[in-house]
Order: sequence, then C-alpha cells, then structure tokens
Amino acid sequence: MKLFYNAKFYSMKHENDSFAAALVDNGIIKEIYNTIPELTDIEKIDLQNLFVYPGFIDTHTHSFEGGLYSMGANLEKVATLEDVFSILSETEPVSGKIFAFRFDERLVKEKRFPTASELDKIFPDIPVILRRVDGHSCVINSKAVQSIDWDIPLPGNFNGYLSKRENGKAANWFHRNFDDESILRIYQKAANIAVNRGHTTIHTMIGDGHSNTKHYEFIKNNLHRFPVEFILYPQITDVPKALEAGSPRIGGCVLADGSFGSHTAALSEPYSDEPGNYGSLYRSSKSWNNFIQNAHKNNLQVAVHCIGDAAISQILAIYEKAQKDNPKDLRHAIIHNELTTEDILDREKNAKVSVIMQPMFDRLWANPNGLYENRLGKERTLRTNRLASIYNRGILLTGSSDWYITEMNALKGIDAATRIHNKYERLSAYQAVEIYTKNAAALSFDEDQLGTLEVGRQADFVCLQDDIFTSGSIAEIKIAAVIKKGCIKIHNEGSSHE
Ligand SMILES: [Zn+2]
Ligand SMILES: [Zn+2]
Repeated sequence: MKLFYNAKFYSMKHENDSFAAALVDNGIIKEIYNTIPELTDIEKIDLQNLFVYPGFIDTHTHSFEGGLYSMGANLEKVATLEDVFSILSETEPVSGKIFAFRFDERLVKEKRFPTASELDKIFPDIPVILRRVDGHSCVINSKAVQSIDWDIPLPGNFNGYLSKRENGKAANWFHRNFDDESILRIYQKAANIAVNRGHTTIHTMIGDGHSNTKHYEFIKNNLHRFPVEFILYPQITDVPKALEAGSPRIGGCVLADGSFGSHTAALSEPYSDEPGNYGSLYRSSKSWNNFIQNAHKNNLQVAVHCIGDAAISQILAIYEKAQKDNPKDLRHAIIHNELTTEDILDREKNAKVSVIMQPMFDRLWANPNGLYENRLGKERTLRTNRLASIYNRGILLTGSSDWYITEMNALKGIDAATRIHNKYERLSAYQAVEIYTKNAAALSFDEDQLGTLEVGRQADFVCLQDDIFTSGSIAEIKIAAVIKKGCIKIHNEGSSHE
C-alpha cells in the first residue's frame, strides 16, 4: 500500500472535484481523502503541492513511425532546401535507410519539394524517404525507386514525388524488414517519449492498411515491457484476421481519403486553390460497406481516417446503416473529422459515432493565410476542427496527436483545444482535459479503469507543477512526475524537466 499525499488531485468526475491524498494498493486507488490521513506502516509519497490529473491518454498515434522517425531527420524548422540537405547529410541511417519527416513545401523559400536527383547527391547508395508533414505525400531517391517492387512502373518524367497509393507503397516498404529486436527498441523509444510527456496510455496504429497482423501479435505479446499501456489497432480491413488476432477493434488510419495539404482529402466543393479538384475518395462505398458491416456484425469497433466532408459523409452513411439495422454500443470512430457541416455533426450524434481529433492541426494550419485558408478558403476554414460544436452535441470526442504528424504532447493538445482559431469552437480547459482523460478512456471502453481518479480506478497520475485550469500557458507547464498503476515512471527534480 502507498499513500500519495500533499497534492491537489483533480478527479475529472466533474468540474472542481478534487481531493488531497490517495491510498493505492496493487495499482488501484483504494481510498481518497480530503485531508491527509494518519496512516502507519505504509509507504508515503509526498507530492509536494503538485497538481495531479488522470494520466493523459493520446487516442491516436503511429508509435512505430514516431519512434522510428525520432531517430531520423525532423524537418519542421527548415527555411530553405539547403537546410534540408544540410540536415540530411548529417542524418544516420536506421536499419540501412534514411528517414526524414515533417517537411512542408509551403514553408521553404523555394516552395517545392526536393527532387530525387538532389537527394541522390547526398545518398547515392542508401534509400531515402522524405515525408510531407501530413504523411500523405513524400519524396524518395533513386536507390529507393530501384528497391521498391512497384505494381505499375513509375512515369518516365518521375522526379521523386509520390502521393496516394504510391506514397503508401513507398512508406510501407521503408517500414518493413525490421528484426524483432529493432521493433521492440522502436516501441520502447515511443513509450519513453509518451511517458515523458505525461501519458500513461496511448492508442497506436499497427500495420500498413493491408492484411498483415504479424506485427500486431508481436507487440501484443510484449505489452508488459513498456512503461505505458498501448491500446492496439490492427490497421487492416480483414475482419477474420482481426478476430483471429483477438482484437476488439479494427482499422485506424485506413484511408477514406488523403489530406488537405496534398489536395487528396475528398471535398463536396472543390479546393479553393485548385478549382475543379474535389480530392478523391480512395475506395468505393461498396467496399467500405462490406468491410464495416462485417466488422459490425462481429462486434468489432471500427476506426477510419476521414479528413474532408465528402469522406466523412461516405463513412458516416455506412456507420448509420450498420447502427440502424443492428444497434450496438461499438463506438465506431471517425479519425480526424476535420471538415464538417451542421448536418454531419447531427448525424454523428444520432449514429453514436465517436470522433478522434487533433487540436494541434488547428494550431498549425487554421491561422490566417495558413494551409486551411489556402486550400479551403475562409468560410470552410471556420468549419474545420469544430471541437465545441462536437462537444456540446454530446458526441464522444477524444484528443490525440496523430504522432509522428504532430508531437505527442497532450499539454500542447489541451492548450490548442482552448485556443482554436475560430473562437466559437474553443473548449474550456476542463473540457480539453476531459478529451485526453475521461473521454479517451470511454473510446476504448475503459471508463471503469481509466480516465478519472476514483476509488476502484487505476492509479495513473500525471503530476504537474502548475494548474491547467488556472494557467495562462498550458503548453509550458512542467511535468513533475508520471505514475502508472501506482509506480513512479518518471520523476523530474525541481523545474529541470527537459
Ligand atoms: Zn493517423
Ligand atoms: Zn490519418
């Protein structure tokens, strides 16, 4: 038994509910106290006036890519292609390949991607992949072109840039052929990053959108090794395979469409900067219907990546039909849910759909003259990332990073949710914490174990030096300690964090 005391514990059961000490036995909260109790013969842990919340839950990450790319080249701060080349020339290969990510051609002086031949000058013999910030397009060098077994030959004027299916094909090739030990090392790295940012549970997508569950089963058998709990999504559409692997859910970033940045998100009205281009629906409604109806029949929770309103509407129509024909509490999810209408949100509410969103997308892309305004115009930008409209309807809304796309950092996500560019779509700080705790727990049907601090719940705590609910700069709050099932996973002395 351990007593954690001398802190302000926010239960997250309802607003302003707090207590002063918690008795923990075997990883579970046994008792809570409003004043510090006189207990003898137990371990006592003084939390030194910290502010304690349920451990953060990030409900959408690509942890394998995130862990892998953390050893590669992060291009988010480059200003010119010269910067890109100079970072790349100092990047070490991982498993014989060079990984670069978070490149945004809009933010470099040249306003373009590097070419394959430019990459060849630095790496003539090592395959290189440089992924666009949204992950929906990339550039590869000639060595990679030669190494990948293409279904159809690349065009004669190919200069290294890939989108849609070829982007997926290249990324999958780069993520293949890691031995078991490297895979574990990469997940360990991801888990350490997660816990350092205050998370005690993270949802992670596993697999390449096809039917291979080998990686899923391997991680499932090694979950006990990691300092955080991973909630696994077999990123496939093969229902029998998911059932065979014992998964309660299926899908992830299986793509209904692409992204705004790559002009591949499916829209009901054309792109503002490319009149005539509506983006594209990646699969027919018939094929989605076969997959989703079968998953629903077999009680699997489904999650699908949908960015544009046309893609959201396509998947939602199938969720609605499944739910109408055979109502179940499966909490099927739309991941991203970026561009919506009043009608779409009402339909999501009625179909009991959950939405897994990324507040940082708004912070990065909804600024004046930013990506959204450029691609969608001002009016539609107001209809992106509508957190308050969703929350107020009572739709199950959860927060996430889509790491490696944005940093896995719940405090930054909470901060972004309270500062959505469209002021009518902002959450209060309390609501923003809910989407990373209580709501996030409900997404995986873990609301009886995780997401609130109550007797009988898991003792998963994130201990902060400042109070999220009164802080003026949430993203800057220092994480003092993270406790998972009653065990201290990180403990930062004073304000020396990072
Ligand atoms: Zn994703
Ligand atoms: Zn996605």
